[in-house]
Amino acid sequence: MKSKEEIIKAGDNHFSTNIKTPLRLDAFNKSDDEKIKNIQHHFKMIMEEMGLDLTDDSLSGTPYRVAKMYVKELFYGLNPINKPKLSTFENKYSYKKMLVEQNITIDSACEHHFLPIIGYANVAYIPKNKVIGLSKINRLVDYYARRPQVQERLVIQILNDLQTVLETKDVIVSVTAKHLCVSSRGIKDQSSFTTTLEYGGCFLDTETRKEFLNIINQQTP
Ligand SMILES: [Zn+2]
Repeated sequence: MKSKEEIIKAGDNHFSTNIKTPLRLDAFNKSDDEKIKNIQHHFKMIMEEMGLDLTDDSLSGTPYRVAKMYVKELFYGLNPINKPKLSTFENKYSYKKMLVEQNITIDSACEHHFLPIIGYANVAYIPKNKVIGLSKINRLVDYYARRPQVQERLVIQILNDLQTVLETKDVIVSVTAKHLCVSSRGIKDQSSFTTTLEYGGCFLDTETRKEFLNIINQQTP
């Protein structure tokens, strides 16, 4: 059992222990509706404990709104049933150069404080025999972002899946994001942001990585 001090310290250091999101074995035995009902109950308890009067018209619906938002929007990416189908196609054009999908919106939440992580992802790969629909990359990024996250884990999860479906190690993923738990509490640094980068295959080569970084540093259309 960790002390309260250790718990706060672990959050501020943003430790992550696993590449996989730690999930209970019974994580999805209940339906979404059951989960919403239970979270609604518990969130009402939290609000009342803080002294809020839930008979007020403005507050009375908040527990339900929060519960629904958690299950259906902010954290829908916890449930593997929501994982986008990553269909690939034969690389008919024999395009063998870098393909970069950039400025993909990241709307996530820090697993240590449940506060937003907002920013952008950039993904590139060099196709072998398989290519993937561009919007599928955006959907995959969103799926892994929509769960309590650690930014380092997020890039690894995206990278691993793309390497598997594209049948190549030549993939790179970068995420640049602002953490509200750094800007609005703790150190309260409003201007800093965090970049994480994971890659394999030919992106281990410095020149190839530079080419990617040059492209993502260009002005957006
Ligand atoms: Zn945090």
